[in-house]
Amino acid sequence: MSCNCTAGRPRNASLRRALAFADQPESLKKGAGITSEGLQWRTILQSQAATRKAHMVRGSNRKKVPSTALQKKLERAAVKVMKNAHAPYSNFHVGAAILLTNGKIFSGCNVENASYGMTNCAERTAIFSAVAEMGPKIEIQAVAVANDHGVACSPCGACRQVIYEFGPDATVFFQGTQGPKQAHITELLPEGFRLQ
Ligand SMILES: [Zn+2]
Repeated sequence: MSCNCTAGRPRNASLRRALAFADQPESLKKGAGITSEGLQWRTILQSQAATRKAHMVRGSNRKKVPSTALQKKLERAAVKVMKNAHAPYSNFHVGAAILLTNGKIFSGCNVENASYGMTNCAERTAIFSAVAEMGPKIEIQAVAVANDHGVACSPCGACRQVIYEFGPDATVFFQGTQGPKQAHITELLPEGFRLQ
């Protein structure tokens, strides 16, 4: 998949105006009855441009999508761990497995709680387990997600951002509305960000 980034230049006209405004002297801004809020836009825009630039660099080094055999192995690991889910409230068991670029596979299941908001998804359980064992320098190549209802179940928004943190070039395999599906993480999370 090619990268569509346009690093450095905001596409949105109002954002370009905000950036131009940020470059004006304070005296002109105050004379126009406007505060220096534009500077905040500048910071945001610079951050976004840096993210796009980093994405372009990474995009040129994209790893291959795992082979079919590896994909199946990953999916089997996701299904296997599903039985360990703690899901007495939803009765919806989910398993996830991640493939790291070093070839290692980690798996995780959803872990619910009587305080529902404390529930942790299978994808994040798998990723956190990998970090706990391997440290923070892991890179996720692929993620597989399975559930015991055989229904469409893509990673939730929170998990997409966590996947992006450790796998900005990851391929995700999951059950879509039309059947098994694979997607690049940036398709699932177009504006993911990292602070490093
Ligand atoms: Zn999730």
